[in-house]
Amino acid sequence: MNMRTVYVNGTYLPENEATISIFDRGFLMADGVYEVTSVLDGKLIDFAGHAKRLERSLNELDMPHPDCLPDLLDIHRELVRLNGIEEGMIYLQITRGAPGDRDFAFPDPATCTPTVVLFTQNKPGLANSPVAKTGIKVISVADQRWARRDIKTVQLLYPSMGKMMAKAAGVDDAWMVEDGMVTEGTSNNAYIVKGNTIITRHLGNEILHGITRAAVLRFAHEAQMQVEERSFSIAEAQAADEAFITSASMFVMPVVEIDGAAVGTGTPGPVAARLREIYLDESRKVAV
Ligand code: PLP
Repeated sequence: MNMRTVYVNGTYLPENEATISIFDRGFLMADGVYEVTSVLDGKLIDFAGHAKRLERSLNELDMPHPDCLPDLLDIHRELVRLNGIEEGMIYLQITRGAPGDRDFAFPDPATCTPTVVLFTQNKPGLANSPVAKTGIKVISVADQRWARRDIKTVQLLYPSMGKMMAKAAGVDDAWMVEDGMVTEGTSNNAYIVKGNTIITRHLGNEILHGITRAAVLRFAHEAQMQVEERSFSIAEAQAADEAFITSASMFVMPVVEIDGAAVGTGTPGPVAARLREIYLDESRKVAV
């Protein structure tokens, strides 16, 4: 891969020159939050939604706002320009910073500045992924994450383990289950379709409030589709006509198999395909 230009605490520099303190609380405590924004046609998709959720994550954790917060759009755009990204993603992470020694207590914000890191991921062909034509397969795993999944923190060890369980089972991803009901995918929101109704778990602390989820549900309403925000079980999902996931980097992606059982015809269904098309078209129109 070509050497990227990344952003660290106010400076644009080559990726191999970027450094962070070993005392950074993101490193020691996973005391950090992040966002992933996709880039299509060299423009940012759903940027305002990601910026708003980022601010909420910071506030929920009493994390000081970095001085550059109002400039994040410019920083994203500059990284897109410097790295010549047409299709891909921008990863952004803010941590509580490096107070100088390890301590469970949060450092005094007066003496500790947040760490801000952004980098690009170049993914030509992201929107035209051939996987969208075949769909993905998932298994179910127990949801063993902490109870504040609505905050987008960098504590991603359990989701990583979920992906590894999926990989070991020869499938693409895992849907997490708590109290008999699906919460969400390891890095995406989960949906089923039964008849004319799109069903996805209601918002709460149990799931991340996906920015793609919000947009897709809005487009579904506008297209006069029925939407029910409620939880569903794996058995209900296996008996559904269609299933799919959403995330900033996968957009709308059909799910064709759950725990070895084919969903519907075992091929991507019309609702997921239509929502993917609408999402890509409409978000491109308002991309910045
Ligand atoms: N749920 C989880 C656990 C995630 O990690 C993600 C994205 O990373 C999502 C849902 C989808 O959120 P978004 O659509 O904002 O990318």
